[in-house]
Amino acid sequence: MENWINELKEYLPDSQVMTELADRYSYSFDASFGEYLPDAVVQAKNKQQVVYILKIANQFRVPVYPRGQGTCLSGGPLPVKGGMVLDLSQWPSMIDVHPDDLTVVVSPSALTANINQAAEEHGLMYAPDPSSAHVATIGGNLAENSGGPRGLKYGVTKDFVLGLEVITPEGEIMRTGGQTIKNVTGFDLTKLIVGSEGVLGVITEATLKLVPKPPAVQTILAVFDNVRKAGEAISKTLTSGILPSKMEFMDQACIQAVEDFKSAGLPVHAKALVIIELDGHPEALKVERELVLKIMKRIGATETVIPQTEEEAARIWQSRKQVSPAIAKIKPTKVSEDATVPRSKIPDLIDRLQEIKEKYEVEVVVFGHAGDGNLHPNVLCDKRDQEEMRRVEQAVGEIFEAAIELGGTLSGEHGIGTMKAPFMESELGSVGIDMMKRIKDSWDPNGIMNPGKIFPEKGQKLVLRNE
Ligand SMILES: Cc1cc2nc3c(=O)[nH]c(=O)nc-3n(C[C@H](O)[C@H](O)[C@H](O)COP(=O)(O)OP(=O)(O)OC[C@H]3O[C@@H](n4cnc5c(N)ncnc54)[C@H](O)[C@@H]3O)c2cc1C
Repeated sequence: MENWINELKEYLPDSQVMTELADRYSYSFDASFGEYLPDAVVQAKNKQQVVYILKIANQFRVPVYPRGQGTCLSGGPLPVKGGMVLDLSQWPSMIDVHPDDLTVVVSPSALTANINQAAEEHGLMYAPDPSSAHVATIGGNLAENSGGPRGLKYGVTKDFVLGLEVITPEGEIMRTGGQTIKNVTGFDLTKLIVGSEGVLGVITEATLKLVPKPPAVQTILAVFDNVRKAGEAISKTLTSGILPSKMEFMDQACIQAVEDFKSAGLPVHAKALVIIELDGHPEALKVERELVLKIMKRIGATETVIPQTEEEAARIWQSRKQVSPAIAKIKPTKVSEDATVPRSKIPDLIDRLQEIKEKYEVEVVVFGHAGDGNLHPNVLCDKRDQEEMRRVEQAVGEIFEAAIELGGTLSGEHGIGTMKAPFMESELGSVGIDMMKRIKDSWDPNGIMNPGKIFPEKGQKLVLRNE
């Protein structure tokens, strides 16, 4: 081990190669489950450093775990096989907007919300808006193909990437795509890398697409006394000819948690809330607003709220953003999932989640980007209680099964990482996984990039207990 660390110290400043226990411990976890100590933490601040680091790692066969801000919910940056965590968060942030091309060139360390803020200064928008946008890096977003509420109308990260600069596992610099909207030259390696969870290389630069910032937005809050009806209202709106920019869902437990955490005046008696945002021309919004209100009432909303000021609207959206920290107060451990189903199946998924909750006697709260079929069932538990965690493991497994049975997917945006790897075959089949493995092996012949992720190991099971 000392050999590769000494080699890294030959080229990198000592402060960028950390081997003290306290430093290694700080990089041993992410926002999901499990703790794994790396042998070293190495910080890269430019592409030449990444090239050097990967060449050394390849020579000494050292696992490399790229890491942005560690907000991953599926174990992506966890150093499950030791080796090094490659921290990219200290790379100087670069956000270079090209307003005439409607593009922006960014460093991997740029925070997603800052990219959108820079675009807005030119009347433009970077639409992907994960709830973690203020703390997560674009490198992490690209690796996870992250999405957010606006994914409903605008799409997710992959829909906004025109080109990438990637350092291959063997330390070569590669460019994919370019700066143009259209590009059909050869295989689309950009799309292959986006969402590849750091197993194919390290992203060192990205050219992203921008779109005009909509001139106006309209928020609508609809209150339901029946969860299934809220699901039906979402489906009906989406088939009515209107495409809202956001359609978010919160169940009663989430509403109560947010009110206890930081009151926004939400109706705690409600069984479910649907929060909608329309965007576009102000005149068009007036018509669409009336249509949406009509649908909500027809399906059974007990109340609808139109915020009168921008502050009121911001308060409603802030309450949605607060769900994650608020539910974390209910119990010490939160297992956050992102089962995603075809949109017509949202009411069925909601029913299945209720059955699973009762069957395993676990606390499940549900919120999410219901407009694109992406719900976040969160199982609230206490990881010190081994018996409870056994039931949680079974419940989580059944949530995945339910999503797949309903024609959906294991993950809409959080990625596979370590947590969902055991379930990959049930969605992709053995041929699908084998094809992916072959791609991985040809890109990374020595298997140094983020080993232990995406691909299940023989007999691997979901384990949330300390065994
Ligand atoms: C409160 C909260 C809310 C969240 N909300 C959302 C949401 O709405 N939508 C959503 O999609 N996700 C959400 N997430 C999950 C998480 O924020 C995203 O997955 C995010 O993209 C991770 O970014 P990061 O910088 O923290 O990356 P990390 O967690 O450090 O890494 C994530 C993955 O990317 C890889 N990686 C990082 N940088 C690079 C790089 N430059 N090159 C190659 N691989 C790299 C890592 O190896 C790892 O596999 C949320 C998380 C939290 C804690």
